[in-house]
Order: sequence, then C-alpha cells, then structure tokens
Amino acid sequence: MTQSKRGLIRRSCGTLFLLFLIVAGTIILLRRFQAPMQQNEGFVFGTTYHIRYKSPTDLHDRIRSVLDQVDASLSLFNKQSTLSKINRGETDKADVMVEEVLRLALRISEETGGAFDVTVAPLVNAWGFGTEEQTTLSDAHIDSLRQFVGYRNLSLSGRTVSKSDKRVQIDCGAIAKGYAVDKVAQLLRENQVENFMIEIGGEIVVSGKNDEGESWHIGIEQPDTTNVGGALQEVVEMTDRAVATSGNYHNYYVRDGKRVSHTISPQTGRPIVHDLLSATVVAPTCAEADAYATACMVMGAEKSRAFFKNHPKLSAYFILAGNDGYVTEKIN
Ligand code: ADP
Ligand code: MG
Repeated sequence: MTQSKRGLIRRSCGTLFLLFLIVAGTIILLRRFQAPMQQNEGFVFGTTYHIRYKSPTDLHDRIRSVLDQVDASLSLFNKQSTLSKINRGETDKADVMVEEVLRLALRISEETGGAFDVTVAPLVNAWGFGTEEQTTLSDAHIDSLRQFVGYRNLSLSGRTVSKSDKRVQIDCGAIAKGYAVDKVAQLLRENQVENFMIEIGGEIVVSGKNDEGESWHIGIEQPDTTNVGGALQEVVEMTDRAVATSGNYHNYYVRDGKRVSHTISPQTGRPIVHDLLSATVVAPTCAEADAYATACMVMGAEKSRAFFKNHPKLSAYFILAGNDGYVTEKIN
C-alpha cells in the first residue's frame, strides 16, 4: 500500500471516530435533557424523605444504600450503629462518616460558643426526647448530668474518639439529617444528575432547575403547633443551596402547662424558652445548615443576629411572633 493511501485510511478512521464521538455525545445530552423527573420517597431516621431528580434512570436503590450507611454510622436509634457503640464504650474508633460529622460538629460547637453541642445526649434523654426511657426529672438530676455535658469533654485524634468521662454521650440528631442530604446530593452528582431537590425531614439541598425549568421553590412552614396542613409563612426561590429549619412546633410536649421543646440549652441543661419560633439557615452544606439552625434556636434571635454579622456567607430566615401573626426576618 502506498504511503498516501495509508494516510487517507488513517484520516478517514479519524473522521469516523470524531463523528462517532459527536453522535454519542449528542445522544447522551439529549437523553439527559429529555430525562424524566424521578421521584423517590420513604422513611429514614424516624422521618420522611422526598427526592426529585432529572435522570434517565431511577437511582432509588443506591440512594437507599447511602441512607442506610448514614443510619449504620450515626443513628442512636440503631443500637448497632458506630455512634451507639462509641456511646456504650464498646469502641473508640470512628468510621469515615462519624469522623467527618464529629469534626464538623466540634467546629460548630466552638463557633457557636457551645449553643450547638454534640454531647447534649444525656440531657436530651432526661427530657424525654432521646432513645432511653425518661427517668426522674428533678433539678438535682439535671444539674448532675450537666457535669459531663460539654463538647470540650470530647476530642478526635485521627479516627480515635476520646472522652474526658465515660458518661459523655454523643448525639448527632441536629446534624445527621443534613449530612445525609449532602451524601445523597454527592451520589446524584457522581451520577451526572444536575437538577434535583433532596429533602429529609425538612433539611434540603436544591440544585439546577425544577420541573418547569426554574429555580426551586422552598416553602417555610408557619411555626404553628396546629399546622397539620403545612400552611406556609414564606416561599423562597433558590438553587444550588442547602437549607435547614429548626423549630419547636413539631417535636415537643406540654408539662405543667408549658411547652417542653426538644432543643436543649447546654448552658442551662433545660429546654429553650424564647422569642425565636423557627430558624431556617442557608449554608454551603446541609450538615452545616442543620447544625446552625439548631444553634440559632438555642441562641435566640438577638444572639443569632450578632452571630450572623460575623458569618456573612450564611443567611437565614427567622420567624418571630408579631402583634398580629408571625413576622419573618431575613438575615444576610
Ligand atoms: P429538627 O430538624 O427535628 O427540628 P434539630 O435539627 O433542631 O431538629 O435537632 C433536634 C435534635 O438535636 C434533638 O432531638 C436532640 O437530639 C438534638 N439537640 C437538642 N439540643 C441540642 C443542642 N443544643 N445541640 C446539639 N444537638 C441538640
Ligand atoms: Mg439541626
């Protein structure tokens, strides 16, 4: 074969390959563009999840296994989880997820001056919101528990968890749901899904566009204990953001005529009582949004406003009681 013929064949092969790449690329893009909005729902961590994402394939099985992994690491309702074993003193080795969440939790505990505190578990149990039966509830008992509640009693060196007292207990209930949302978002992105909304028990990540090709619409509920229909106080349009809400209108009980909230002030050892009815925080990750939202509920409106002045990259919507009805305050 002459050299010019060989050159011609090589060039033709090159052109064919290029053509193949263009056609394959167009098909992939078209498939993704025309892909349906998948919808997955279910129960996890004692709450519900709703996930919508534009993808040619249903990824629910893989999403479920991510959620099961978070449960096996961080849930205190799962007695075999890594965190349950650390709490019982059966191991001092964190797994990858426990390590990641504890590192973040300790940072946020520090930043919020201990308003958010991962070692609050004994108090949460004593007030009847934990995994153990509520026992005595006297001032003396609460004060005795406060001796070993405090994030400074906990440290992490590599994967090794150290407690200053073996009674120190870890509770990731105010950060794990947000973390799970981040992990599902990571899974979707790894599968080239760009348009999605993930919601687990009110903690949300939105990305890209909704079904109508617009930014996602996120509803903030009225913080009303009788709000079974989910009446909304605000609808906020956003995308590529993580959002979490904490409030005292879903998880509480009434004792001696007073509402007992599931958010505990680590400083007083008692459920919080103040002006802020709900805090919705927008942050780079949902784990952060979740933890900061809980911290806001502990700090109250005034301290939270000061906190957000020093954290201009975070924003929030506070709902407070107004003269006639609720008032929303947008922060940052
Ligand atoms: P929700 O999203 O259900 O409103 P939060 O994210 O505010 O809940 O988390 C509430 C849970 O966090 C409680 O049930 C308890 O397990 C834990 N918790 C309560 N008080 C604190 C606190 N000060 N710091 C960290 N976690 C807390
Ligand atoms: Mg939270």
